[in-house]
Amino acid sequence: MPTVAFHTLGCKVNQYDSQAMLEVFQQAGYEAADFEGRADVYVINTCTVTGTGDKKSMQAERRAMKNNPDAQVVIAGCLAQRDGEKLLSTGARLIIGNSRRGEVVKLLHEAMEKGQAICAVQDILRADYEPLFITRQEEHTRAVLKIQEGCDRYCTYCIIPSVRGGIRSRKPEDIRAEAEGLAKAGFRELVLTGIHLTSYGRDLEDKTLLDAVKACDIDGVERIRLGSLEPVIATEDFVRELAKIGKVCPQFHLALQSGSDEVLRRMRRRYTTEEFAAACERLRRYFPGCALTTDVICGFPGETEADFAQSCEFCKKIAFSRLHVFPYSRRQGTKAADMPGQLTKAVKEERTRQLIAIGKQTALAYHQSLVGTVQEVLVEEDLSGYTRSYVSCRVADSENMCRMGDTLQVRIICADENGVTGEPVRE
Ligand code: SF4
Repeated sequence: MPTVAFHTLGCKVNQYDSQAMLEVFQQAGYEAADFEGRADVYVINTCTVTGTGDKKSMQAERRAMKNNPDAQVVIAGCLAQRDGEKLLSTGARLIIGNSRRGEVVKLLHEAMEKGQAICAVQDILRADYEPLFITRQEEHTRAVLKIQEGCDRYCTYCIIPSVRGGIRSRKPEDIRAEAEGLAKAGFRELVLTGIHLTSYGRDLEDKTLLDAVKACDIDGVERIRLGSLEPVIATEDFVRELAKIGKVCPQFHLALQSGSDEVLRRMRRRYTTEEFAAACERLRRYFPGCALTTDVICGFPGETEADFAQSCEFCKKIAFSRLHVFPYSRRQGTKAADMPGQLTKAVKEERTRQLIAIGKQTALAYHQSLVGTVQEVLVEEDLSGYTRSYVSCRVADSENMCRMGDTLQVRIICADENGVTGEPVRE
């Protein structure tokens, strides 16, 4: 049986796309293999959101060719969508980008029969939603469920709209069908993901993200977790209706990017820090004790010391339970790449270091606020799992009570910046 090995970079949408492509290979008689071992086919699902993404994608290709010089290499994903033909010179057999993933095996076999390398990248800006489907995920308890593709926001630092195309949403009935399959396969938690989840339904008649969440509110699913959102979606009506769906996990990832209104304006983000804070207040009012997580970019062109200080103060004020911090990465083809005031690597790294330190403090504070409370933990492996608010929890289980996939009531006994420890509550 031929073997195929995947290496996936970047976001949850890429993880989903890789799983869907893996299942296409398996349906064609391939067996999954370890990427660091020997395989007949290697698929690298690339990321180009930062320069590091490009570098790691190409490193993975070189590793594959070293692991088996006779192997067929497929390059998929955002870097392939952006660079297409150019990547043929790397020795890959097939370049497919962010469309035609359902045909990956057919296209690969065509290229092999012709003894040629093929670039099958299509114009993504006019693409329809590609109906990919998954029935399982490597993880055992949580499955990523893709419900939306593309983005048309064009934030000035972001390359994604040009490689993922415009807004395309899956119909709620398709989402439900996949959710039912994953629930049957034993997945208790579904993570709804997309390139711009906040835009879900804008291309469907009178559908909103709430309809997609309700489509997953089915037997067998205990938790519905939402991927990254924009604060603009957290209106009073939306949050109130969301709170009525009991399975929705009290953890919201609201992408902030900067705590300075001036920088937000030049990033072309569609909210102010005041509006962001108001969205957080609403979520905390309807989901008391919920976790708020976020992304922040440090060193955006022209970011002054004062702008950065505002970002730090704002992150302390909101007290995020998890702060993902990124040094600004200049992407050719974006507006920000041509902006004046590009900062040095040293300044970007120093600001990133400072904000990461603030994130550790606010994470510790949130974890400490859970000590003494009873939290529900979905056990994943080696006696650890996640609370509903997505805090990593180590289960101190002296009597060996819990198994992977168990949902446990756990009393939190201590905390650190990485998570908490808890003891199973005896009935
Ligand atoms: S909303 Fe902005 S940052 Fe997010 S994917 Fe779209 S363009 Fe990129």
